[in-house]
Amino acid sequence: MERRIADILFDARSMGGIGTVVSLPELSVSVDIGLCTPAALRTETLLLTHGHADHLAGLATWLGVRRLYGMRPGRVVVPAGILEPMRRLVDVLGELQRRPYDVELVGVEPGGECVLGNGLVARTFAVDHGVPGVGWALVRRVAKLRPEFHGLPGARIAELKQSPEHDLFQTRDEPLVAVTGDTMVAGLDVQDPLVADARVLFIESTFVDDRRTVAHAHVGGHSHLDELALVLQRVRARAIVLYHFSQIYRPGEVEAAVAARLSPDVISRIHLWLPEEGDRL
Ligand SMILES: [Zn+2]
Repeated sequence: MERRIADILFDARSMGGIGTVVSLPELSVSVDIGLCTPAALRTETLLLTHGHADHLAGLATWLGVRRLYGMRPGRVVVPAGILEPMRRLVDVLGELQRRPYDVELVGVEPGGECVLGNGLVARTFAVDHGVPGVGWALVRRVAKLRPEFHGLPGARIAELKQSPEHDLFQTRDEPLVAVTGDTMVAGLDVQDPLVADARVLFIESTFVDDRRTVAHAHVGGHSHLDELALVLQRVRARAIVLYHFSQIYRPGEVEAAVAARLSPDVISRIHLWLPEEGDRL
């Protein structure tokens, strides 16, 4: 399903525990690939948050179908903690096809980043799901002329650019989208500018009402809406997308829980990425 939120186009599907994928068609990036949608197939870069099956299982399709249709091999960026098993997985998938995949596989340490090109950078932020994992923030990195050089004629700027002793530019990261993947709320630093200032924040909200307690959510390393209610007020994101809802909820039940638990100022920025008709087990 495609939706434009805060001027950014998303194509996502999310069924908690079964399969989650968040694609950004305009940036040619998908975060996780629990299901391989046509939109995800068209994206050249995959950013994986962690190695659980419902965030990874579409990889075989993504690799195979992209090659079948003559698309570029693409790039898969993963937390460094799962790089080795991911390498073995890609090797085995190639072996089963009787032809190795020449996908670019990149491991990024927590706190690290991967430059995607065209001014776009994927930066990690900390999460805690009890397994090696990261959240991903997509930032637009722009080089700005330092204030002390403002107002100089173009010819003078060009001249200064040639001299190594002048550092004319400073870079600034504009966080566009942050996607948590799976995490407990306590493991997420909502003050991290990558999270708090993202234009659109996707944050997992696996459990939403009293049928599951906060303690139950923690057993699986997940978030409960009751905890999110306490921290979302500190998030400045223009839009907050709740996703990864458990199979126990019908869409109307999620909407009712959000209306009952979140404050009006937060609700005004909330978007729900609910399962599609017929998705529920
Ligand atoms: Zn998980």
